[in-house]
Amino acid sequence: MATIAFIGLGNMGGGMAANLAKAGHIVRAFDLSEDAVKRAVGAGCVAAKSTLDAVDGADVVVTMLPAGHHVRSVYLGADGIIENVAEGALLIDSSTIDIDSARAVIEAATDKGLHMVDAPVSGGVAAAASGALTFMVGGTKSAFAKAQLYLEKMGANIFHAGAAGNGQAAKVCNNMLLGITMIGTCEAFSLAEKLGLDAQTFFDISSTASGQSWSMTSYCPAPGPIPSAPSNRDYAAGFTAAMMLKDMRLAQDAASKAKAATPLGAQAEALYALMESAGKDDLDFSGIMKLIDGSL
Ligand code: NAD
Repeated sequence: MATIAFIGLGNMGGGMAANLAKAGHIVRAFDLSEDAVKRAVGAGCVAAKSTLDAVDGADVVVTMLPAGHHVRSVYLGADGIIENVAEGALLIDSSTIDIDSARAVIEAATDKGLHMVDAPVSGGVAAAASGALTFMVGGTKSAFAKAQLYLEKMGANIFHAGAAGNGQAAKVCNNMLLGITMIGTCEAFSLAEKLGLDAQTFFDISSTASGQSWSMTSYCPAPGPIPSAPSNRDYAAGFTAAMMLKDMRLAQDAASKAKAATPLGAQAEALYALMESAGKDDLDFSGIMKLIDGSL
């Protein structure tokens, strides 16, 4: 069993750290929030006083932080993880961040002879708690093989997406597609209603026809057809529109740097930004239905 430093014990990291502890690892947990550390201790982790206290002598470091600048700040520089971690330690960043930051940090780790992967996740807070996340991993084959042992304790599907940064690339492309299909699904259900079709009837037809997608069959934005969907709880999140907007912005940033045309991604970003301007970005992202049907 390994000694694992876990940095970032928020909605996602809290459940992930708990699953590593449940698997028998010693998990040294650190977060800027004392409450988050207390919750992790309640779930079997050991409290650390700082990032460097957590990583001191650790075999593995896992980070689950909000954005690229947080990841750069904990890994890079004289006080960063890379300069202070034990020789041979494995580094795993599971935050959703921009591809440039992911590649810069992995390059710095590689220069110090360390193995590091970017391993962002798909699946929300419930999947983090139950160990059912999907991991999209970027890095060398040997770094992936080492990381797999630990990722399997936190996830159900682990994919090697290729070289460093490719995990983030897969994540932004997937979420751009999700953001777009959700808006299209809202438009279709809203139009169907105005044309006299109730949501269940349209769902029964379209979910077995060519219009179906995950947004429809697992997360239907119209109340009724999928009882577990946020649409049945007045769009209480779930995965907030704010988080979807963050991912759409990451996708547009990546598209602009790669000179890729993503006109629907750009349009989708603009629509989620309207939820932000309306002060409704704490709703689930499927709450964009309210924008489409005019009830926001
Ligand atoms: P969160 O805001 O709940 O948690 C982030 C945690 O990091 C906070 O507890 C914060 O205190 C801590 N933190 C920030 N800077 C720190 C530092 N320097 N040192 C130590 N701790 C620090 O966010 P979350 O929902 O857990 O999301 C984490 C990442 O996972 C994000 O990149 C997000 O985009 C991604 N993600 C989230 C979901 C979701 O449904 N919530 C799904 C997939 C991916």
